[in-house]
Amino acid sequence: MEPVGIITAAAVRPSPWGIATGPANQCSLTDVMSEELARELQLEEETRAFPQEVLADEGPFLSGDNIDTSSDEVLAQMLQTQFDREYDAQLLREEKKFNGDSKVSISFENYRKVHPCNESDSSDDEVDWQDTRHDPYKAVKPTPVPKKGFVGKGKDITTKHDEVVCGRKNTARMENFAPEFQVGDGIGMDLKLSNQVFNALKEHSISEQRRSARVHDKKEVSTAEKVVDPKTRLLLYKMVNSGVLESINGCVSTGKESVVFHANGGSMEDKEMPPECAIKVFKTTLNEFKNRDKYIKDDYRFKNRFSKLNPRKIIRMWAEKEMHNLKRLHKAGIPCPEVVILKKHVLVMSFIGKDQVPAPTLKEAKLGSEDSKQAYYEVLSMMKQLYEQCSLVHADLSEYNMLWHDGKVWLIDVSQSVEPTHPHGLEFLYRDCRNVSQFFQKAGVTEALNERELFNAVSGLNITSDNQVDFMAEIEALEKVNEDHVQCHGKKISAFHKDDDDEGPPIIYDE
Ligand code: ATP
Ligand code: MN
Repeated sequence: MEPVGIITAAAVRPSPWGIATGPANQCSLTDVMSEELARELQLEEETRAFPQEVLADEGPFLSGDNIDTSSDEVLAQMLQTQFDREYDAQLLREEKKFNGDSKVSISFENYRKVHPCNESDSSDDEVDWQDTRHDPYKAVKPTPVPKKGFVGKGKDITTKHDEVVCGRKNTARMENFAPEFQVGDGIGMDLKLSNQVFNALKEHSISEQRRSARVHDKKEVSTAEKVVDPKTRLLLYKMVNSGVLESINGCVSTGKESVVFHANGGSMEDKEMPPECAIKVFKTTLNEFKNRDKYIKDDYRFKNRFSKLNPRKIIRMWAEKEMHNLKRLHKAGIPCPEVVILKKHVLVMSFIGKDQVPAPTLKEAKLGSEDSKQAYYEVLSMMKQLYEQCSLVHADLSEYNMLWHDGKVWLIDVSQSVEPTHPHGLEFLYRDCRNVSQFFQKAGVTEALNERELFNAVSGLNITSDNQVDFMAEIEALEKVNEDHVQCHGKKISAFHKDDDDEGPPIIYDE
């Protein structure tokens, strides 16, 4: 008998099970010492345990560990049988648990572990098995089967546990992975992937697919529906349905307190719609508004209502507040979006920008020195107008809330704007002045007043302190005087600025 390469390896390796029970043949000492005989005996034994078909194939499971004694084979079979029984029993239990008392039951029969002897090459089943995405059995997934084909006495069947055959199949199956999943050039080679590696790869490919789907989803949602809950979506669809809007396009911005969409204006009976609209959807999550209470709570216009409103209505009030304030601005001729319609927490206004591209903020606009200077004077005069004519302090004025469009500055985001007599109105004004002053000074506008000068210029007050701390102290003192006045006389010093709300767009509070 010609020695086969494999035998040499097997002969050299010691059995991991300790002393191997050698064949009981009687022979002389010379014979025992003969390597030739040793090899022959070994070969004989190997051939009995593992038929030629498998032996001819090189595979990790053929070398050494499990093949030295026939008892290994028996042991493996016993273990496998034991395992299969346990597994099937567990399967049955799981099936019962899963179905409970339900009249319609689901059979787990297909997951039963059929004994390898009766098993055909069922790699397809295995794919299902390995694919645990919808697998109610994930919890009872068995520990890996012995890494060995069930071959041997009378059972020279090549099963899916044949690592070589299986390995090749696994490699081929990588072609079924998502096309974007890079599997290298292993498919064209005689590459054998163990189940473990294949499973890991498969799982990775699935999770990759899911991840990319998620990322994709996100993108899609963000174009039209991000942060828009079903109720808001319905509201938006209604606007399109009624023809007020022709279509709703992409999302322009997701801010702290709102999401802004672009829309094409439709038509309303007697009112002309702007061709391009911005829809500001105030977020219905309350977190962002928690620290904003003070803007509205102390605004006497809303004082009586505030305490009675639930959080959802408070958010609608923000939208309403923005609408009122925008109308005041508009009336005073300050460039700003024109209100189209207000529904609950959704405010539709004219779009500042062109062809769905919003105008850049002053922060983004990168103006040249001439434009910067012009912008500065516009902002200065707007702040004055706002204060004097609209009786408002923006309260969130900065280069982020001013847009550069059509060669001039536009004011946006006035939901938090308050009257100067608001208990913190002057502080807000001072903060606005600081932002504006710092921005234009940094932009190189040498004419820009410093924050204190700007404050006096806008408010018409004459606070003389030359440092911030004292200046602030004076402002707070003034606010206090005003508050005391309210306490004594029950009204504010400055006149109540009446809104012409009746002419405004419909306000719908109740669902
Ligand atoms: P942020 O927290 O970022 O300040 P916000 O929730 O206060 O956002 P706004 O500042 O009113 O909301 O709007 C956010 C952005 O949406 C603006 O910076 C601007 O780019 C865009 N935007 C808002 N209104 C309009 C409009 N009428 N036309 C064009 N773009 C607009
Ligand atoms: Mn803003």
